[in-house]
Amino acid sequence: MEWCRKSYTFFKEQSADRASGIRIIPLIKAAKAGAGDEDTWIQYMPANSLRELAGAELPQGYAKAFEAQVPLIETQLFLPYLQQQLVDKGVSFVQREITDLDGISQEYDIVVNCTGLGARELCNDATIFAVKGQVALLEPGYPDHIFLDNQTPSYIVPRKDATIVGGTYEEHNYDAHTVEEDLQQVLAKAYHIMPALRERKIIGSWAGLRPFRQSVRLERESNIIHNYGHGGSGFTLSFGCAEEVASLV
Ligand SMILES: Cc1cc2nc3c(=O)[nH]c(=O)nc-3n(C[C@H](O)[C@H](O)[C@H](O)COP(=O)(O)OP(=O)(O)OC[C@H]3O[C@@H](n4cnc5c(N)ncnc54)[C@H](O)[C@@H]3O)c2cc1C
Repeated sequence: MEWCRKSYTFFKEQSADRASGIRIIPLIKAAKAGAGDEDTWIQYMPANSLRELAGAELPQGYAKAFEAQVPLIETQLFLPYLQQQLVDKGVSFVQREITDLDGISQEYDIVVNCTGLGARELCNDATIFAVKGQVALLEPGYPDHIFLDNQTPSYIVPRKDATIVGGTYEEHNYDAHTVEEDLQQVLAKAYHIMPALRERKIIGSWAGLRPFRQSVRLERESNIIHNYGHGGSGFTLSFGCAEEVASLV
């Protein structure tokens, strides 16, 4: 949770620069009756950033919901922005496949291993596995907040390039292609929650593989610092983890 809190603070600061692609917007996090959703996250939210919705405000079909102010990271904008900041500071980028971690650790003083699912082979770590996620992309402009139901799972994220409608959570599925039938189910759930989404044109779809591990591996081994296994929370934890990595150098 400390990683999460530090990342939240970092992204909030970054949101002051519009070019970062980060802005603070409301998140409605909702749970159905008896869904078993935990409220422990609430105690980690900054003061005055959260309120519980009253009955009449609840999204259709939901028993409980909170509204929180959160940083929305438009990754398609933020990652190039971040890369440019690093280039400006003199960081160089080299793209190559690593097949032997020990080999590369002899070339450099410090190696930070952020290979995600690649660690399955590279570190012979069978505890990391793929959790496939599929999303539909609708024409942007609606809604004005993020919606999240972790249980079903359903989420609606209004980015500038598209409204992302998710999703699926498919453990041990390594096929990073979308399946039309699955997307139809994802959309049906979202249309039920937010009927106005039916009016939005479908402009695309996407599938990705979350690098899931029971717990993140963040530790130093000789001159290699491992930092992988962030599952569906890689951005949420990113800068908190990065700070800990830096402390291990
Ligand atoms: C549908 C979906 C929705 C998501 N939503 C969110 C969200 O709302 N919030 C959030 O925080 N996270 C979310 N995530 C999760 C997030 O995308 C991941 O946690 C994050 O991308 C993990 O980052 P990473 O850098 O550890 O791994 P990756 O992004 O997988 O990057 C690993 C990199 O290492 C490279 N690599 C691997 N092996 C080697 C090798 N041997 N040699 C060279 N390079 C190698 C890969 O090519 C890749 O570029 C979502 C994921 C999906 C699929």
